[in-house]
Amino acid sequence: MFRRPTRLQVKTDDQIGLMRQAGLVVADALDAVVAAVRPGVTGKQLDAIAEEVIRSAGATPSFLGYHGFPASICVSIDNAIVHGIPNDQPLHEGILVSIDCGAILHGWHGDAAVTVGVGQVGRGAQDLSDVTRSALWHGLAHARPGGRLTDIGAAVERTVRGAVHDYGIVREYVGHGIGTQMHMPPDVPNVGPAGKGPRLVPGLVVAVEPMVTLGAPDNVTLPDGWTVVTMDGGLAAHWEHTVAVTSTGPWVLTARDGGRAELAALGVEVSALAG
Ligand code: MG
Ligand code: MG
Repeated sequence: MFRRPTRLQVKTDDQIGLMRQAGLVVADALDAVVAAVRPGVTGKQLDAIAEEVIRSAGATPSFLGYHGFPASICVSIDNAIVHGIPNDQPLHEGILVSIDCGAILHGWHGDAAVTVGVGQVGRGAQDLSDVTRSALWHGLAHARPGGRLTDIGAAVERTVRGAVHDYGIVREYVGHGIGTQMHMPPDVPNVGPAGKGPRLVPGLVVAVEPMVTLGAPDNVTLPDGWTVVTMDGGLAAHWEHTVAVTSTGPWVLTARDGGRAELAALGVEVSALAG
């Protein structure tokens, strides 16, 4: 059998600049949603906030209608890992909620996700979210030329495995290339080994999105056809950013500062394109 090598969409600096504009719309939408998270608010209300921010920027929600998905954000609560559908149930104090958002502007996509506690959450839930966020940034720090794609997942895995608690890493869902479509090649797994896969070349843009569980990572999709939950009922966290590989380093397109602060803390300089 012949297998043609997968062609990856390589962007020009100008195109990455356009993706930055989409990324900032996603950042704005997520900021507005996170600011509204409190006990009593519903997923549908958060969805309306995100859609309003996206549309008033002249952008379009990527998720709405995607394979029939009915909302502009995913709201995944407690044991839900990803793809939760916003509903009319009020969020309760102490739950952990993951919010995933995507927007299209001028034909280019941005995609990012955060996990936040509603009011005060338990130590175990906060630690889970923190390690997932840290794993994301360690992965993003490897989105630089000279490396290989699986360097990203290896860094994610190393960070999670380095924690005191024995967390699970979801394997069935992965990060992805992104550009003129939300989901494009290559897949970006959240586990190693490093040094495999396509070379990280300037112009490659990917979404990195670790999904980490407090218990086992085994999961199942609910009968709604979307919501992915842990089989053991344990908590899950999900953090995501869209990052461009540039000749001068990573540019985290969905982070307001381009990733400058978080990357610097890891000893990595942000792309010169970040200004
Ligand atoms: Mg996403
Ligand atoms: Mg994604």
